[in-house]
Amino acid sequence: MSKKITNFDLCIIGGSIAGNYLCNLLSKTNLKIVIIEEHKDVGLPLQCAGILSQKLSKLIDLPNNLILNRVKFAKIIGPSGSFIKLSGNEYPYIIDRIGLDRLFYSRVIQDDKITYFFGEKFKSFKYILHNHQKIVLVETSNRKLKTHLLIGCDGPLSLVAKTLGIKNKNLPAIQIRVKEQFDENEAVMYFDQRWKELFGWIVPEGNNIFRIGIASSENTAKNFRLFLKRIKVNQEHKINQQGGLIPYGLMNKLAFDNILLLGDSAGQVKATTGGGIIMLLTAAKYAANCIKNCFKNNKFSRKQIKKYYEKPCKSLIGKELKIHYIIRSFLEKFTNKDFEKIFQIIRTSEIENLISIYGDMDFPKTLIFKILKNPRFFLFLFKFLLKNPTVFIKALHII
Ligand SMILES: Cc1cc2nc3c(=O)[nH]c(=O)nc-3n(C[C@H](O)[C@H](O)[C@H](O)COP(=O)(O)OP(=O)(O)OC[C@H]3O[C@@H](n4cnc5c(N)ncnc54)[C@H](O)[C@@H]3O)c2cc1C
Repeated sequence: MSKKITNFDLCIIGGSIAGNYLCNLLSKTNLKIVIIEEHKDVGLPLQCAGILSQKLSKLIDLPNNLILNRVKFAKIIGPSGSFIKLSGNEYPYIIDRIGLDRLFYSRVIQDDKITYFFGEKFKSFKYILHNHQKIVLVETSNRKLKTHLLIGCDGPLSLVAKTLGIKNKNLPAIQIRVKEQFDENEAVMYFDQRWKELFGWIVPEGNNIFRIGIASSENTAKNFRLFLKRIKVNQEHKINQQGGLIPYGLMNKLAFDNILLLGDSAGQVKATTGGGIIMLLTAAKYAANCIKNCFKNNKFSRKQIKKYYEKPCKSLIGKELKIHYIIRSFLEKFTNKDFEKIFQIIRTSEIENLISIYGDMDFPKTLIFKILKNPRFFLFLFKFLLKNPTVFIKALHII
């Protein structure tokens, strides 16, 4: 039996944080919006450590009950066990991620112009002509629909992006929630060559519950066991376990005819920490503005989307994501000695002070330029690049 075709102004694939927040931003526009989500519930399965900078409360109206804890220190531990403890004005939030996704959903669900189809999978799209205008015909597991704009908010394995020829490199991640006796004031990052693309983390959720995880391109399960052994955590005491993928690299192309990508599907993720939420919430504001503009001018071309979405995103987020990726490329090559040396420089120079003043988990550009002016740091970097010319070439390529 052929599927009935319904018309929508906008079709969002993925009802997680990017899709729900964008829908939230567009909820007063009178646009007819459909969200296709393959899972049956909003916010599940949980795939997040939920650590976010204070920018969250500047970007959204954040209810207090979603803040589970705040951390005062970031402890960075090198492969040999030596560490530095950094603090600043940041005091990042540890949030209830499921609650955050549900908050955006609850704000739009009463709107009769907005339709959610849960338990339904996006399968494909193709361009068609409708009244001499290019639009998109979308096919899901349950229906076909026509739309002026298709938004790929479908995460790291985005089928929308893949159909457009874009493939994310993703790091598998594992996390458990466990009752433990660590310090509730600090988030800890463990570096090791075996999980060099990211780190092992301990994030204090509050009430003596800790989110402990790791992401690495290879042997993630084995590395996770090694990590738990190193920090003396017994997996048997876990409350529950999560898994997921973290896009790794630079931001993708965002604009296509009648289509735009947002969130993990667009690679809007920091390569230093794997955090994507602040970036995608920032990008969603540009996306919403662009979408309003497209409908106002009845123009849905790549050129239009590029001008109002991709360009502003590139100039704010894209540049910062490049810096995150360059830092990550350096860290991947760090030896034990490099960690020792850099910790020593940070501890004994004014850098620790610079970090506490200019430290920014999301937008590190200002801090990096300040640190580069430090002669000891500069000399360390110079020697490091002499030893690792490929990293230098990679950095030049990224810029
Ligand atoms: C273990 C882990 C820890 C993390 N910790 C942090 C952190 O502490 N701080 C931070 O900022 N970020 C963190 N992140 C990253 C953050 O979770 C992501 O950046 C964020 O969830 C991306 O949101 P999104 O909506 O773009 O994609 P996702 O949350 O991946 O959502 C994509 C949605 O699309 C749906 N979907 C996919 N394909 C289809 C299809 N074909 N049809 C229909 N629906 C589909 C999925 O079901 C899903 O609901 C972490 C990630 C992981 C894996």
